Amino acid sequence: MSRRDELLKEMGLSPVWRLRSADAVPEQVQEQVHEQVQGRKATNIQEMGWAQLKAKVAGCTDCKLRAGCQQTVFGVGDEHADWLLVGEAPGSEEDRLGEPFVGQAGKLLDNMLAAVSLSRGRNVYIANVLKCRPPGNRNPEPEEVAQCLPHLLRQIGLIRPKLILAMGRFASQALLGTDATIASLRGKVHQYAGVPLIVTYHPAYLLRNLPDKAKAWADLRFAVRTLSGR
Ligand code: URA
Repeated sequence: MSRRDELLKEMGLSPVWRLRSADAVPEQVQEQVHEQVQGRKATNIQEMGWAQLKAKVAGCTDCKLRAGCQQTVFGVGDEHADWLLVGEAPGSEEDRLGEPFVGQAGKLLDNMLAAVSLSRGRNVYIANVLKCRPPGNRNPEPEEVAQCLPHLLRQIGLIRPKLILAMGRFASQALLGTDATIASLRGKVHQYAGVPLIVTYHPAYLLRNLPDKAKAWADLRFAVRTLSGR
């Protein structure tokens, strides 16, 4: 320690400056700094900032799905949200408009969110496990989930939500690394990388199974209570 630093310490004046938290530095600047320090762009998805991750997804051809869809559907909402809602994959409307949950299932989701004073974009981020629409809305294949999941995991790392609501079998099983059923996973607080995770039915399933809406409503209230620590 230099004499000056020692004196400042004795006077109780050190440290005289402190790095601001990384949160205060805009994402693009963080990426530029990363590039300058590392001398390269991040190639590892888990090191990417928002801009690079969005570009990676937009140009992704890692699996066969991109060839059969109109566009990738990255995610939507508040990038600093407490709530992260995760669905399965874009459907036809999402593929057309480039935004998750804009079809019938999305309308139901928006109504459910409104009932607990939430809305997409305000403290809520919505994303899917897959960023490309599977043809004919078929179920995602395991290799497609394995290829695309790192994008969602990086979104989680960047958002650092306080709660994840996994909607449906694919989101729940992919994030929890299990093949357990929704029924057995509901009603508990799971964890993904230290973030509380609650499992609920997929809105598209609820449109076909109206009586289960009450269960999904209970799940949402359970999530609200979990987030507020009650
Ligand atoms: N179903 C999903 O899982 N995600 C969407 O974005 C739309 C429908």
